[in-house]
Amino acid sequence: MMKLATDIRYRKEKLKALRAAIIAHEEALIEALYCDFRKPAFETVVTETQYVIADISYTLTHLNHWAKPQWVWPSLLTFPNTDRIYRQPYGEVLIIAPWNYPFQLALSPLVAAIAAGNRVVLKPSELTPHTSACIQTIISEVFYPDEVRVELGDATVAQRLLAQRWDYIFFTGSVAVGKIVAAAAAQHLTPVTLELGGKSPCIVAADADLKGTARRIVWGKFINAGQTCIAPDYILADARIIEQLQEALQQAILEAYGKNPQGSPDYARIISDKHWQRLVAMLSEGSVVFGGTYEAEERYIAPTLIRNPIASSTLMQEEIFGPLLPILSYTNEGELQQKIGQFEKPLALYVFSNSTAWAQKQIETFRFGGGCINDTVLHFNNKRMPFGGVGHSGMGSYHGHWGFETFSHRKAVTQKPFWGEVPMRFAPYRGKLKIVKKIMRYL
Ligand code: NAD
Repeated sequence: MMKLATDIRYRKEKLKALRAAIIAHEEALIEALYCDFRKPAFETVVTETQYVIADISYTLTHLNHWAKPQWVWPSLLTFPNTDRIYRQPYGEVLIIAPWNYPFQLALSPLVAAIAAGNRVVLKPSELTPHTSACIQTIISEVFYPDEVRVELGDATVAQRLLAQRWDYIFFTGSVAVGKIVAAAAAQHLTPVTLELGGKSPCIVAADADLKGTARRIVWGKFINAGQTCIAPDYILADARIIEQLQEALQQAILEAYGKNPQGSPDYARIISDKHWQRLVAMLSEGSVVFGGTYEAEERYIAPTLIRNPIASSTLMQEEIFGPLLPILSYTNEGELQQKIGQFEKPLALYVFSNSTAWAQKQIETFRFGGGCINDTVLHFNNKRMPFGGVGHSGMGSYHGHWGFETFSHRKAVTQKPFWGEVPMRFAPYRGKLKIVKKIMRYL
């Protein structure tokens, strides 16, 4: 148990064993995700198994460097000391994961927590029982129960865990449950990372390359059947090109999933009956101009484009989290700001434009977790960049080094030799104030 906290080599051994176990169970995971919501094998490999494997490999490459005590220049007051920042594990960490990327969003924070030397209790989602069982098998093969333990179950299990005292809580899920987690953490002043959601807008300017834009929006929106926290939630298109954009989106959907997406092996299903019903109800909250078909037994909903959505509807007030894409228009930047500004700060924002200056202006104008210019979702995939929300879309971040930092306390220590004393700081202070004031200007 202590080995994880103090021995970097041991952490690396464990991470290597975890990587090997994931490779050994990859086929079972592909099968499990297919059973849970017919996630296509390609998407499982790219966004779940190989994603986590690459995450572990990247961590193994950099861990020695990240974990090394960091020397910093002393200040005038700490001179001639040696000043260092130590990264210390928090201790025992609770990770609560959602269902939409059930393997990646459970394992990726776990990798960061282990890299930083913490013990972990992991609660995967109850809505993906096959994947969650697979996670438990993998973890029990690699870790001792007092290092990492998986607790299966629903909200009641999560609440029982939240009632305990933790050294850190890392939660990925909805805003509503995020508030419950933050309240529980506050009882013990436990630090938290909240990876939440929101309505992520996708702005399309009149000068954007519409064919390329449509292809990239369709990919980011309909991967995982729209059940992605950073999927474009709605489009805001320049009114002058909205018809051409709609046409290009329709074309891109046909190219990706064919005339009958229900028969496509590349298109996932909705996670649960409840979510399916929620989404089907939204279909009547605007004009369906493309798609709109659905089937209860398979929990299927076609990739759907909606125009003229009702502003006060659930479709336009809540995070959609499914394959429905409302297309709205704007005529000037003021309207753009007003339409985006009515929502809480989103997790992602996308801008498509041929003008880098204009796109960058939008990026600087709005507050959001992270995003792309001329693409969707892809910012998630650079481990050198932090991933996380702001305001209601979350607090804190992870990925790569950022994840290691999230799960580490930064402990500042100054080490003083017994020579080089500055007697000025010791009482009695009489006659010292003037000179101290002068010196302090240079600190
Ligand atoms: P959710 O909040 O319903 O559930 C997440 C986890 O919390 C599950 O493990 C669940 O068992 C637990 N939980 C549910 N109700 C609880 C309660 N009352 N008390 C304590 N724990 C409870 O979220 P979800 O439906 O699994 O996931 C979808 C949401 O997650 C979306 O809002 C999406 O935007 C967000 N999300 C965010 C990210 C991100 O990285 N920021 C990634 C994926 C999903």
